[in-house]
Amino acid sequence: MNTYTTNSSGRDLLMLRLCIAGAAGRMGKAVIREAVAKGHKVTGAIEAVDNPCIGKTLREMGICDSDTRIVGSDRISEACRDADVYMTFTTPEAEVQNIPAVAALGKRVVLGTTGFKEEQNRQIRESVQGRIPAVFAPNFSVGINVLFNLVKALKAVPQDYTFSISEVHHTGKKDAPSGTAKKLGDIIMNLRGYSRTVHGREGMSPRKPEELEITALRAGGVPGIHDLIVAGPHEMLRIEHTAFSRSALAQGAVYAAEWISNQTHPRIFSMEDVLGFNIGEK
Ligand code: NAD
Repeated sequence: MNTYTTNSSGRDLLMLRLCIAGAAGRMGKAVIREAVAKGHKVTGAIEAVDNPCIGKTLREMGICDSDTRIVGSDRISEACRDADVYMTFTTPEAEVQNIPAVAALGKRVVLGTTGFKEEQNRQIRESVQGRIPAVFAPNFSVGINVLFNLVKALKAVPQDYTFSISEVHHTGKKDAPSGTAKKLGDIIMNLRGYSRTVHGREGMSPRKPEELEITALRAGGVPGIHDLIVAGPHEMLRIEHTAFSRSALAQGAVYAAEWISNQTHPRIFSMEDVLGFNIGEK
């Protein structure tokens, strides 16, 4: 059962108990810090079984002031035991193992991992759908989810205007293009009837009307930039989203955890559901 805490302004806040997977990774650490800053408690922390941080506490790892010990994913049931919500930023291969185990425990899930192959995606969705309330989102930032909705208003743009997406991320990012660029691409493909995606050009490669362009750059430590260019023969509209740090994503993920802790329908929700953009839609 959820408990409540009181913040400095005296308002009652929901205090969640969280289990974080990928706890020593870039996003895992950012999510733990954001959750703790909001008064939530990390009751479980999971990492890959061969990760050198296994057995260390979150305090020893310099992540936050907590005695919770990081355990291997082979001890997932134990790590999830006291948690209201399981939050995970790992790898597709890890999720295929971990998510069905968490769903079987009946724990709510917030999943941010990207880069799934079609079969992995199917397996994970099947293990969750109809069993537990979950939020799956390729990007938890509020700004990006506003962008997903803004784009729907571009349906009326003349047919000879082209749409192009580019994204820049840090050199540690494994999948390309980003899950966010893919989701933006899916929205635009449905809206504009594009049937092909082109990921860069070389040599003689003129653009064809059925093509959507999505390009990916990997540069230094960039947390994430997404750029949408809508161009006609005489003008161009450009919408850019820049995350200043991973906190933009971690903040949204914690918001999703707070929201899903109050949901009872065993289905997969999106960040648009969390932010209320889908209210009134069929
Ligand atoms: P990272 O490599 O820094 O961290 C991943 C962590 O997962 C590592 O510490 C790794 O040891 C751990 N891990 C591997 N196997 C595991 C297992 N079986 N159980 C538990 N932990 C395991 O990567 P990152 O930058 O933190 O990104 C992680 C994922 O989240 C990527 O897919 C990335 O694209 C995605 N991501 C999503 C969002 C979003 O808003 N949805 C934002 C940033 C990153």
